[in-house]
Amino acid sequence: MAVKQEQTKIKQSVELDGLSGDELFARGKGLTYDDFIILPGYIDFQASEVDLETNVTRNIRIKRPLVSSPMDTVTEWKMAAYLALLGGIGIVHYNNTIEEQVEHIRKVKRFENGFIVDPVVLSPKHTVMDVDKIKREHGFSGIPITEDGTLGSKLVGIVTNRDIDFEKDRSRPLSEVMTTDLITAKEGVTLHEANQILKRSKKGKLPVVDDEYRLVALLSRRDLLTNKDFPYASKSAGKQLLVGAAVSTRPQDRERVEALVAAGADILLIDSAQGYSIYQIEMLKFIKENFPGIDVIAGNVVSTRQAAALIEAGADALRIGMGPGSICITQTMMAVGRPQATAVYHCAKYARQYGIPVIADGGIQGPGHIAKALAIGAATVMAGYLLAGTAEAPGEYFYENGMRVKRYRGMASVEAMKAGGGKRYLDEGDRVIVPQGVSGTVLDRGSLVDYVPYLMKGLQQAFQDMGYRTVSELHEALYSGELRFEHRTPAAQAEGTVHSLHTFSPPKFGKIQVDSY
Ligand code: GDP
Ligand code: GDP
Ligand code: 5GP
Repeated sequence: MAVKQEQTKIKQSVELDGLSGDELFARGKGLTYDDFIILPGYIDFQASEVDLETNVTRNIRIKRPLVSSPMDTVTEWKMAAYLALLGGIGIVHYNNTIEEQVEHIRKVKRFENGFIVDPVVLSPKHTVMDVDKIKREHGFSGIPITEDGTLGSKLVGIVTNRDIDFEKDRSRPLSEVMTTDLITAKEGVTLHEANQILKRSKKGKLPVVDDEYRLVALLSRRDLLTNKDFPYASKSAGKQLLVGAAVSTRPQDRERVEALVAAGADILLIDSAQGYSIYQIEMLKFIKENFPGIDVIAGNVVSTRQAAALIEAGADALRIGMGPGSICITQTMMAVGRPQATAVYHCAKYARQYGIPVIADGGIQGPGHIAKALAIGAATVMAGYLLAGTAEAPGEYFYENGMRVKRYRGMASVEAMKAGGGKRYLDEGDRVIVPQGVSGTVLDRGSLVDYVPYLMKGLQQAFQDMGYRTVSELHEALYSGELRFEHRTPAAQAEGTVHSLHTFSPPKFGKIQVDSY
């Protein structure tokens, strides 16, 4: 306490040096993350006390400020499910058919549950082979059996792996192999009570039935265990993982919007490189009018004029960035864009007046950049490059010059556009392709399950050095002028990274055991 009072006294008597956000981002120069540095603040707490919870959209909060890009080499169901388990959120790309994208959303929504309200059900007449098929398609094999094989009909048994593991005759009817001695819970039971019954019963599944013993829902023991392992998971009230889905600005995608909402997408993102367009505004209005319960991320924008138009049309979050992406050549090819830090600062400051969070999209190379993006007003960051080398990103690893890599490509690269990604950039019917992105490879980063905690621990330490415990405290300090910055000259930037050594080993990202330190 005495130390804290001492600190307050010093604060009052010393004029703050460095620059405020407004001074750093004054008109005239476009800056990006490496062009500035944040001056240290006062530490009176542990890094582990830093709470990174933030708004990804106006109404949706997540525990970790990390969003994965809607790109076909970054986010499909696996990335989205694991990132949500780890506290972030994934936005599934739309470089696919509506059915394929919907299937990704469904897989995430089925990945973890509280009450499974639409469990897959079979009848006693189905065979072991039918269970095998469900296992192949969905990955689970705990199947409640009801009289006529539908939800809402009388529960007569359950089939799980243990009932059929050793069954040689796969054509046997389930009536002969199912377990009929069942432990169930009554409809109306709370999730907490149901979990207690599940724990006590030592069974893998708990069917929930009504007074007439008709099946109404199912619980799985696996979900209770998963919940214990992933305390920061981004979940809806029904304990399903949160997931977003991207759509284009094209009128044809209205059908896609409807299908994605029906599949349970929690957020829609209108994906456009330049979001200040009549097409985007019309799509945004369409979604807000027809699906007012769904939060929409609009963008991309880099100026307050663009931000104002999308906020007015109903955006619940803005995605900031035009040209900073690792795979991106927009600024070179199109002569339009804005240095990323300047874009984030001005758009975030503007959007804050309306309670709209912004997502700093592109150019994030590590925990330091995430910290800087949040320090200049972003509520979350969106990453492609950072996540494309993880095991959960789509695609297989292969070797290139002796290094284990995965493919990573811009959605406006020739390769992605040929596969359908031109929806974000091309006019319909165009035959001449002017790419705005490239295709390449990124190094193996291991599993998200190791990598995200590493990034977040780094971020907590950055918050500690800045002297703030939460994202909202950091933002208040930014706008009050208490948070101080400094420009970095090219020589200062060189000084601020490894230099002068004859050789050195770069840190092995994602492989460090963070808990031990
Ligand atoms: P609360 O804020 O303390 O009520 O905790 P939560 O809302 O996180 O969870 C309420 C109950 O649901 C607790 O018993 C949790 O263990 C349990 N729970 C949380 N997530 C899941 C899940 O995905 N599946 C299941 N079956 N239970 C969960
Ligand atoms: P199983 O024993 O093979 O059924 O698999 P687990 O119970 O270990 O895991 C099943 C996972 O799939 C859990 O996370 C469930 O929430 C999820 N799941 C989603 N929908 C269903 C469903 O309709 N039936 C079952 N059994 N699980 C489902
Ligand atoms: P990264 O995290 O790799 O630096 O940047 C990812 C971001 O770059 C994406 O979220 C998206 O906004 C943008 N992006 C994705 N593909 C392309 C592309 O082909 N061209 C351009 N200009 N930007 C892209």
